[in-house]
Amino acid sequence: MTGRPIGASTRDLAAARLSGEPTPRAGAACETRRWATRDPDQCCNLRKVEPLRRKLSELGAWITSIRRAQTSFRKDARKVEWDVKFGLVKVNPIADWTSQQVWRYLHEHGVPYNSLHDQNYPSIGCTHCTRAIQPGEDPRAGRWPGTAKTECGLHIIEPLRPLPEADA
Ligand code: SF4
Repeated sequence: MTGRPIGASTRDLAAARLSGEPTPRAGAACETRRWATRDPDQCCNLRKVEPLRRKLSELGAWITSIRRAQTSFRKDARKVEWDVKFGLVKVNPIADWTSQQVWRYLHEHGVPYNSLHDQNYPSIGCTHCTRAIQPGEDPRAGRWPGTAKTECGLHIIEPLRPLPEADA
């Protein structure tokens, strides 16, 4: 078993490396805690969505590990689809896998995984937004606990905003 906790500072560093720009306060855990608790949508937008958008703008396709069973937003994910949000091909090779299939594959092929998975963290996000789940809880109940938020925004297509009314 290998792995280590994934923290907000790790996220900041990865975002800075991928985007080529510093995040608002790279590595500032206390700042991230404040953002994450007061406005997690904006925090995810700054730390995850926009850095990824900048990187994906250079590419023609990206590969994800989302699965249809994970959230209602992912239930219609296709194995190969057009990513309307970021404007490139999106490949989701394990879209139809179950959690059991994932774990079987990891064990059969000796794939390293985060040790928090063995401590009741079936879904792992940033430090300030992830807790262990209790028996019987949804596997993603530990993400953004106490809020209605279920997705960071990377895999959500926002509904179209109504057009402003034309001048008479
Ligand atoms: S998961 Fe939490 S800390 Fe990480 S970017 Fe989103 S709101 Fe911020």
